[in-house]
Amino acid sequence: MDPAPKTLQQAIQYFSDEQVCIDAVAQMRWLSGPRCPDCLGNNATNPYYLKTQKRWKCRNCRRQFSVKVGTIFEDSPIALQKWLPALWLLTNCKNGVSSWELHRALGVTQKTAWFMLHRLRLAMQSPERGTKLGSKGGECEVDETFVGGRIQNMHKDRKLRYNQSGGVFGGKTIVAGILDREARQVRAKVIPNVKRETLQNEILANVKFGSTVYTDDYVSYTGLQSRFIHEVINHANSYVNGRIHTNGIENFWSLLKRGLKGTYVAVEPFHLDRYIDEQAFRYNNRGTKENPLNDADRFMLALSQVANKRLTYKELTGKDGATPF
Ligand SMILES: [Zn+2]
Repeated sequence: MDPAPKTLQQAIQYFSDEQVCIDAVAQMRWLSGPRCPDCLGNNATNPYYLKTQKRWKCRNCRRQFSVKVGTIFEDSPIALQKWLPALWLLTNCKNGVSSWELHRALGVTQKTAWFMLHRLRLAMQSPERGTKLGSKGGECEVDETFVGGRIQNMHKDRKLRYNQSGGVFGGKTIVAGILDREARQVRAKVIPNVKRETLQNEILANVKFGSTVYTDDYVSYTGLQSRFIHEVINHANSYVNGRIHTNGIENFWSLLKRGLKGTYVAVEPFHLDRYIDEQAFRYNNRGTKENPLNDADRFMLALSQVANKRLTYKELTGKDGATPF
């Protein structure tokens, strides 16, 4: 981007031109140039750009495609001039952005803003699944927390869905989290229960064997010493014992809950994973002395992750119909 915007105000101005938006999305999603979504191999590259239609035409299959195809923006009647400032706002506001704030900022309805935010959160999902946190000699904090408790206010059919899909415990949703202290990276997700197998499977899948793992003395964490150096803090006695504590991941829980309470008010368990992704994105990409990321960097990172992700109206609401957002 040139001249690259640095603030929200500059971003809104910069992305007020549709062609600028198209160029920015194209550049971040197709690192080696635009390519046809329907064709494989070399034939798919180097399509014509139809300037007046703001679409590309494939030299191979002759089909036309827009920059939105195959991204979180696909099928959306909302202009990129609104989508990109919304992404800027969401990637950079510490406690998140409510659909009411976005509604006022962009002049879209609150309902539209709510749907937009859910799609934008997909771009904030960490792409690094498959890799593990920790290392031999490295330290990870592991903890679980309970969020919400509004299930009693929901419609019956939804209640049933939540119970079937798990993730609900006494009206609250359980979230498991792991913090890699050196990499300053957090991973968290909704889990169905706090059984030993459930919690330890998360640790086995996400932490390198041989890492030091800090937990509290909850019974589900016993037995970890076969694969990890397991150090336990007994919260009945103290919260910190030298390096043995879980304060880092608990800080993340406070951030998550502050966002949920202050900004999002009534998050349903079904949507919680996307809010967690959003908060983890900002946490994992916050600027540090060694890695001074700024607002534009966070925005560009999320923009590079908009492709190959879709969230339809039906997936969000369970209802059929054209996507109205
Ligand atoms: Zn093609």
